[in-house]
Amino acid sequence: MSPECAFVLDHYNDYISGELVAGEVARVEDHIKSCPNCEKFLGKASRLHGRTVGLLRTSAPQTLRNSISSLLDKA
Ligand SMILES: [Zn+2]
Repeated sequence: MSPECAFVLDHYNDYISGELVAGEVARVEDHIKSCPNCEKFLGKASRLHGRTVGLLRTSAPQTLRNSISSLLDKA
């Protein structure tokens, strides 16, 4: 696991809750643009939290986008 993946794993909870400072948000978002594993992980985690992450809605794989939109439809 790269140090950036470890950073995302350590901070995803605060990221989803909107509690990261701007510099850390940018670091997470920069990383998930180039790391499908972390992007997938964050997408799953944000669904568990009942939140969707703005960035993921536009860059997530189609299957993830479909499951997010079907969740939103049911809400
Ligand atoms: Zn990663």
